[in-house]
Amino acid sequence: MGGKFIKVKCDDCENEQVIFEKASSVVECLVCGRTLAEPTGGKAKIKTKVLKVL
Ligand SMILES: [Zn+2]
Repeated sequence: MGGKFIKVKCDDCENEQVIFEKASSVVECLVCGRTLAEPTGGKAKIKTKVLKVL
């Protein structure tokens, strides 16, 4: 169990969104659909700006 939540900001539309660091599927921006994170099997690869770890 475990894994942190990370607050990110979309590079394209500046939407702020909280995502799970071990996301098991692609995380898209809820506003514009940009890919924010991709699964790797462990920690997701974050593809945008990280604001803070929650
Ligand atoms: Zn966006």
